[in-house]
Amino acid sequence: MPGGAPRNAKARVYGPADHPIRRTQLSPGALQVTTRLHEGGFQAFVVGGAVRDLLLGFEPKDFDIATNAHPEQVKPLFRRAFLIGRRFRLVHVHAGSETVEVSTFRAAQTGNDATDEHGRLLSDNVYGTQAEDAARRDFTINALYFDPAAEEVWDYVGGVADIRARRLRLIGAPTTRFREDPVRMLRAVRLAAKLDIAIDPKTAAPIGKLAPLMANVPPARLFDEMQKLLLSGHAVETLKSLRSHGLSHGLLPLLDVILEQPLGQRFIELALANTDQRVREDRPVSPGFMFATLLWHEALATWTAARNRGERPIPALFDAMDQVLERQAKQIAIPRRFEATIKEIWSLQPRFEQRAGQRPFRLLEHPRYRAAWDFLDLRCKSGELEGEQGELAQWWDRFANAGHAQREAMLKPDEAPKTKRRSRGRGRKQREAGEASEAAGVVPGDGVDDPPP
Ligand code: ATP
Ligand code: MG
Repeated sequence: MPGGAPRNAKARVYGPADHPIRRTQLSPGALQVTTRLHEGGFQAFVVGGAVRDLLLGFEPKDFDIATNAHPEQVKPLFRRAFLIGRRFRLVHVHAGSETVEVSTFRAAQTGNDATDEHGRLLSDNVYGTQAEDAARRDFTINALYFDPAAEEVWDYVGGVADIRARRLRLIGAPTTRFREDPVRMLRAVRLAAKLDIAIDPKTAAPIGKLAPLMANVPPARLFDEMQKLLLSGHAVETLKSLRSHGLSHGLLPLLDVILEQPLGQRFIELALANTDQRVREDRPVSPGFMFATLLWHEALATWTAARNRGERPIPALFDAMDQVLERQAKQIAIPRRFEATIKEIWSLQPRFEQRAGQRPFRLLEHPRYRAAWDFLDLRCKSGELEGEQGELAQWWDRFANAGHAQREAMLKPDEAPKTKRRSRGRGRKQREAGEASEAAGVVPGDGVDDPPP
């Protein structure tokens, strides 16, 4: 049994004098839900990430509640409560604008559970004791329970000691626990970076060897974890750490290759550093934009290869986008709504090269102009675009902020006659690019017809 916690193991209980958490630090919803459960005669604890974060001095994102009440017993205690999930049922309690997740103590694995051929658990068992619930969690510091009424922390797995030592340690035998659920490897690296604590050497040891098991994890789950990782405010460090643990292979195709090319590396690092800063300043970030940056150099390589084979730029770009996203879907399932954003941002890029006539004015009006410009700015700053093109982002910034007369003066002369003389077709291709993507209305996913010859 993971963690060696028997069914009726006793918790070590830390009273209010032995830990810093006070019930006033909980959200109103969490306090309300635990109080009501207590009044109903049940146990109710805050559990998991929130307890960990409070002990380490961070502000929790949300408060999950664990109880010995079964879902059917929880629901009638609240006016707005909903049963969620089919295999393992949870209750979502709506309290004001907050949704509090209430889960019933779950049984530990028995050793007879169904696993795939690599040891990955295929099913979750039913309800169990609190000791069992603790033992099936991933890290000791994620398995602490806070009782708001008594202001006590209950610890079955040595989590408080690990918090004090600032150590991330798996409950149970690391190899078994990683095999059961390879996502735990990703979580280890993510949580260590986010919390600025060390991975215990015994926990870290098998990661390199077991990294290939990540390939068996369903893509949708990987997406959720990757998104958490990338939006943690510590994406740059986390990705570096993933690479040093050999975990980045197969997560985002060619991430390693990209990061080894100076331009790709610079581009991604700039993008992630930007995102990290926004997260830390509590400004909104768009997952679509982030995935657009992570996959751009792959799209760019595919696109450039097609153009070099003589394909027309815009159809080639749309083909490249589809290919890259399709390959990516096999590893991390990027939800459709993000795919649309990614394609929009990418397909607007060639339009920044069109600086004559009415086109720049139309581009400014595009609802995704701002995101596309941010993206262009990264391409310039990373050195992907150079020479005159390297100044495109600046030009557009000035253009966007200029008055009407100034804008007219900034426009480039119509390129048609000039580019003909420049031969080699670059200007023609670019012009075509602008027309085609405009003609396409840059609707993501729309098949784009070749412009008439
Ligand atoms: P974050 O603050 O980033 O959300 P978290 O630890 O709260 O981190 P969640 O995904 O919200 O992460 O999970 C909540 C709790 O569920 C964890 O604290 C842990 O106890 C348990 N848990 C989550 N994922 C796993 C897993 N793969 N294996 C075992 N237990 C897990
Ligand atoms: Mg959480």
